[in-house]
Amino acid sequence: MAEQDNEYKDGAKGENDGNEYEDVCYICHRPESVAGKMIRIPNNICICNDCMQKTFDSMSGLSFGGGDNASLNHVDLSKIPNVSMINLSDLGGFMNMPNSQRIKKKKPEEKKEMPELDIKNIPAPHKIKAKLDEYVVGQEYAKKVMSVAVYNHYKRVATGTMDDIEIEKSNMLMIGPTGSGKTYMVRTLARLLDVPLAITDATSLTEAGYIGDDIESVVSKLLAAADNDVEKAERGIIFIDEIDKLAKKKNANQRDVSGESVQQGMLKLLEGAEVEVPVGASSKNAMVPMTMVNTRNILFICGGAFPDLDNIVKERLNKSSSMGFMADLKDKYDKDKNILMKATVEDLKNFGMIPEFLGRLPILFALEALDEEMLVRILKEPKNAIIKQYQKLLELDEVKLEFTEGALREIAKEATKRELGARALRAIIEEFMLDIMYEIPKDDNIGEVTITEDYILKKGAPQIVMRSVPAIEKKA
Ligand code: ADP
Repeated sequence: MAEQDNEYKDGAKGENDGNEYEDVCYICHRPESVAGKMIRIPNNICICNDCMQKTFDSMSGLSFGGGDNASLNHVDLSKIPNVSMINLSDLGGFMNMPNSQRIKKKKPEEKKEMPELDIKNIPAPHKIKAKLDEYVVGQEYAKKVMSVAVYNHYKRVATGTMDDIEIEKSNMLMIGPTGSGKTYMVRTLARLLDVPLAITDATSLTEAGYIGDDIESVVSKLLAAADNDVEKAERGIIFIDEIDKLAKKKNANQRDVSGESVQQGMLKLLEGAEVEVPVGASSKNAMVPMTMVNTRNILFICGGAFPDLDNIVKERLNKSSSMGFMADLKDKYDKDKNILMKATVEDLKNFGMIPEFLGRLPILFALEALDEEMLVRILKEPKNAIIKQYQKLLELDEVKLEFTEGALREIAKEATKRELGARALRAIIEEFMLDIMYEIPKDDNIGEVTITEDYILKKGAPQIVMRSVPAIEKKA
């Protein structure tokens, strides 16, 4: 019994005492990993921020009779929601629960090893590109541009302010259809550099005061990604996807809250400003602590598919090429699948992006369209290629997994049909790997599986080789 008592008391200790159990909100019963940090009141009772806020809100909503503060003493507390529930004297609180009923805190992750690229001593662009090459197939131009931009950016950050020549920020604008690898490239870069990354969708952003996320909420997200370490966040990367959705609407006579004005609102942020952001929440309210973050050294990368931009580019190119003796065939550019790589700032202005906004994203580039050959390479070449992931999984069961070239080509063909870029690859592979992953572990004798073109086309079964038994065909 004495031992159990001890156990209870242990649980009642504050988290700073090295307590390995989570605090639980007395009102909503959520643990601190879900509800966030708890406020402690006497008797070892913890209350989460949300419930505390609700309690305050409901108290301030009550009328205490003619505004006379003295009458506060006579308020019947049982009428106040939530408050009446807390009777400090007869509570044990969750802290007195036996440890068996409490959630263990997640252990802090092991100290990470050195990043592959050190931003304090930023390696030359060709080394950054070489690292990107391990993960990103093709996109040679984009990788080159990004490597140089990142190199310049972090060199600028490392040296601090330049005395006479202020180096411009290397914010980027990336054009590429859905599934072409925009997010993937940014993610890979952030991971290699070991800097925090926040990814946001431009469509969710609105000007301050409207329903939706404030523009500054992206900085809050980054701060959260940096574990609330302001200094780390200030060296991070913010990726804003679907930026094309902020284009100025043509012939709009209403006030435009989501498009042009958000572009306007972002100008300061892109350039570098001190912003006050809530810590641990995406919106500002009375209970959330605030902190200042300077966006001067944050690298902004915007991405978008820019539908119809190809027509704008084509029109411009056709116009210039149909003049004088340089006149060309009118449909010369119609078949150019990489037409977006020829896009200029002028074209983007015509698309509806405002010049000031484009001016703050000086590095403009487009990704290559993914053709069948590229999709096949994406399947097998990157360090973390989907096929390698499945091979590794089956290797744990000591089964060798192979794909024939024909099978890979069929998967790529199917992905092209779906028009979701490389994103379709995983979906397709998962569809037919389900049977394999289900059947293989059933039979210990299976030593090798080869996925064939026929299997992908649903015309046959995969080839199975049993351990030390000659190859036989087996229906999956
Ligand atoms: P987007 O953001 O352009 O819509 P994603 O970045 O989400 O597209 O790309 C989808 C997936 O396609 C990524 O998770 C990645 O695995 C794969 N992918 C796309 N392009 C490449 C590439 N060049 N090399 C390797 N993988 C790629």
